[in-house]
Amino acid sequence: MVNADPRHTHGHLDFFRCVCGPRAVLTDPQAQAPYLEERRGRFSGTAMAVVLPGSTAEVAAVVQYAHAQGIAMVPQGGHTGLCGGAVPDASGRQIILNLRRMRDILSIDTLEGTVTVQAGCRLADLQQAVEAKGWYFPLSLASAGECQIGGNLATNAGGHNVLRYGNVRELCRGLEVVLADGRVWSDLSGLPKNNSGYDLKQLFIGSEGTLGVITTAVLRLVRQPRQQLVALVPVPDIATALRLFGAINDEMGEALTAFELMSDFSMMLVARHFPEVVASLPLNSAWSVLVELSRPGTAEDLLSSFSGALDRSIGRTEMNDAVVARDLVQGSRLWAIRNAIPDAQRREGPSIKHDISLPRGQIAGFISELYPLGIGDGVANRP
Ligand SMILES: Cc1cc2nc3c(=O)[nH]c(=O)nc-3n(C[C@H](O)[C@H](O)[C@H](O)COP(=O)(O)OP(=O)(O)OC[C@H]3O[C@@H](n4cnc5c(N)ncnc54)[C@H](O)[C@@H]3O)c2cc1C
Repeated sequence: MVNADPRHTHGHLDFFRCVCGPRAVLTDPQAQAPYLEERRGRFSGTAMAVVLPGSTAEVAAVVQYAHAQGIAMVPQGGHTGLCGGAVPDASGRQIILNLRRMRDILSIDTLEGTVTVQAGCRLADLQQAVEAKGWYFPLSLASAGECQIGGNLATNAGGHNVLRYGNVRELCRGLEVVLADGRVWSDLSGLPKNNSGYDLKQLFIGSEGTLGVITTAVLRLVRQPRQQLVALVPVPDIATALRLFGAINDEMGEALTAFELMSDFSMMLVARHFPEVVASLPLNSAWSVLVELSRPGTAEDLLSSFSGALDRSIGRTEMNDAVVARDLVQGSRLWAIRNAIPDAQRREGPSIKHDISLPRGQIAGFISELYPLGIGDGVANRP
């Protein structure tokens, strides 16, 4: 797209105000500030306006106008992305289209096990709403309190539960998208079986807003897990972590929900910046694994299968130091350690994020190559 001619800015702003309302078009630098800079301060830009549409029709009208006028647009959700994809350039001629006003949960279909939601709904709000009805939306990110469903879809977010439930691509049953010229493309039937042609929604998932603005989604829900076990297991090296992974997979693969490997460096950062989060935990091993298991059945069965897997894969000392949460509150305390890592890294200073996928068999070799180069300290890896 061509950037807008600055001489016409007033006319553009008048149009956006007319469509979305005067308070939904931010031009004041102070009001714009939170939308312009990535949270670690690594990427920043300027914008002609931050536009906050309140409906699909408003998004479509704004996009159609911007398309006709050659104004570049940056779709934005919760602005938690770490790659600068939601940040405008430095020209001041782009508009940010932030969907935070479009946050309604439109329906929860308990027969189908789906939720239809506007793209600006925060992930945590969606999770709470479906949990109140006995369902569970398994996308789980440390940024859940801020990121939006549209942003999750546009980045094909993975998160802690990717082992069990896949990326958000696998959780999406339907989308409504405003295309780059303002036309609305909609496939919100939510049917699990649809063999009627190309699965076009998949193009928009992971496209980082380059193909259109996601305005509504139908997402797949699962029943709330009946039994859940969360444990923090110290391990001396990656080979042991992989052995533990293999043993759990053999013993109870269907129950394995999350397996997060954390280095002593990242634990040290959490201890330094959030001492209350790690209080009283024995943190002297080179690596720690955070395991989450969930399945129907009794808590005793789950614990006994897990103990069997520990027994077959790690040493006696590590077993004694493993911390198994006794209830959901303790489980969320263990998760708080993992979730504090990004903020601890941010407080420590500049860091470079990478999200690398590898076959399990190559993880140990990859990390041992990176460490001597000083890269990879503090990485949270998932086998
Ligand atoms: C503490 C922390 C932990 C994180 N953990 C994870 C993790 O485990 N896994 C993971 O995958 N990511 C993780 N992230 C990164 C980030 O939270 C995710 O990428 C999230 O999905 C981004 O959502 P958002 O609403 O903040 O999107 P934004 O940051 O606002 O935007 C991200 C991209 O999506 C586009 N976009 C946003 N909304 C729309 C829309 N409605 N239509 C079209 N395009 C749109 C933007 O243009 C941009 O390109 C983490 C981030 C933080 C800060």
